[in-house]
Amino acid sequence: MQDIVIIGGGLVGLCAALAMRHPQRQVTVIEAGNLEQAPSDGLNSRSIALSTSSVQIFRALGVWSRIEAKAAPIRHIHVSSRGRWGSTRLNARDYHLDALGYVIENSVLIRCLLEAVTDCDNIELRQNAGFESIRQEATVNIGYRYDEQTPTVEARLALIADGAQSRARAALGIGHQIVDYGQSVVISNVEVSRPKHDTAYERFTPEGPLAMLPLGDRRYACVWTLSPQKAALACAQDDVEFGAALQDYFGFRLGLVERVGKRFSMPILRTRADALQCGRCLLIGNAANALHPVAGQSFNLSLRDIACLYELLNEESLAELNDAAIAALAKQYEAQRVSEQNQVIRYGDGLVTLFSNQLPLFDHLRAAGLGLLDLVPALKAQAAFSGMGMTFGGNRLLRGHL
Ligand SMILES: Cc1cc2nc3c(=O)[nH]c(=O)nc-3n(C[C@H](O)[C@H](O)[C@H](O)COP(=O)(O)OP(=O)(O)OC[C@H]3O[C@@H](n4cnc5c(N)ncnc54)[C@H](O)[C@@H]3O)c2cc1C
Repeated sequence: MQDIVIIGGGLVGLCAALAMRHPQRQVTVIEAGNLEQAPSDGLNSRSIALSTSSVQIFRALGVWSRIEAKAAPIRHIHVSSRGRWGSTRLNARDYHLDALGYVIENSVLIRCLLEAVTDCDNIELRQNAGFESIRQEATVNIGYRYDEQTPTVEARLALIADGAQSRARAALGIGHQIVDYGQSVVISNVEVSRPKHDTAYERFTPEGPLAMLPLGDRRYACVWTLSPQKAALACAQDDVEFGAALQDYFGFRLGLVERVGKRFSMPILRTRADALQCGRCLLIGNAANALHPVAGQSFNLSLRDIACLYELLNEESLAELNDAAIAALAKQYEAQRVSEQNQVIRYGDGLVTLFSNQLPLFDHLRAAGLGLLDLVPALKAQAAFSGMGMTFGGNRLLRGHL
């Protein structure tokens, strides 16, 4: 009998495993893929921006030193609007911080987490193990496919972390809602001639926001929101054409765009589960909320969900929890997380509406907004702290210790 089974060993599943480990607990992660094979090839990788709240949580989990060595700090954020003078700058030192956030390649982050998980005797990671079925009685029974067999694992609690198209969520009968923003995002890493290592750029264009996140050396991760038609065109362009288009929209703040990596495009969707819990099963990560990438907050929000779970479960010996106690705990988790999730969703939706709308009125608002932000320190601080994931209270993991 396991104490906790985590279905899905992606970024969120692995972080949850590290947070749930406890000398008296046995934790098993079931992952369909083979994580050691995550590719990391220079200009063709995907990356993630970590907020300061995530840094605190990684510190508490004892993995920050591994991650920090491989992450690029963001000490300044430059926000501008194409064709407008309005611009604003956020500086870490104005908030007495070393960095406003960090950028790291997903595959590198997965490797750091894998190393930490492998070091824990009471976490078992079963790879190439695809979830098949779930049955809840006094415990949870999970069936999975492994090497042409279908073994089962029994646990007191299951965390569902198998992504936005979660099969486990469907098997539990939990519905989900999808909002399609009618836009796409094009992702590509680029190499520039005049890098500013610790500066990230967010540039609003009539088509949608264009973010350039520092990856170290001369590399930047470009995340560009476009109409589906323009995104398809960007992916079909050769490197020279795409580099020229990017240069035209972004300008010359980083010198010349000298090399570009493979382009990936995906529709901008938001997927939200109708409930965060069902019996002895709790939803986390993209299985619960997959937000659009414009505000770069999904993973950071998921880490704060995990911090909440840690707080609720830490003192509990799971063996002593009966059905009623588990149900109460699950309801508490849902109640505590829904309001912050709503706030983050509203913040992200607001950004998409404000910065993707092509009506002239919105263009003036954007320019005025950026000018205002620079003039009113309190407003700027609020924007910075929302982006850093620091607006919403704090528990032990958020304060950086277990
Ligand atoms: C372009 C882009 C940029 C982003 N940038 C940011 C950012 O800057 N900051 C931020 O906070 N967030 C960002 N995000 C969001 C972030 O990537 C996600 O929040 C995060 O990856 C979700 O992790 P997850 O583990 O919940 O889901 P996933 O990454 O989807 O992982 C799910 C895991 O479950 C496994 N799995 C699936 N099915 C099964 C099954 N049947 N059985 C067993 N295992 C299974 C999969 O193999 C996978 O390993 C971005 C997203 C995109 C698309």
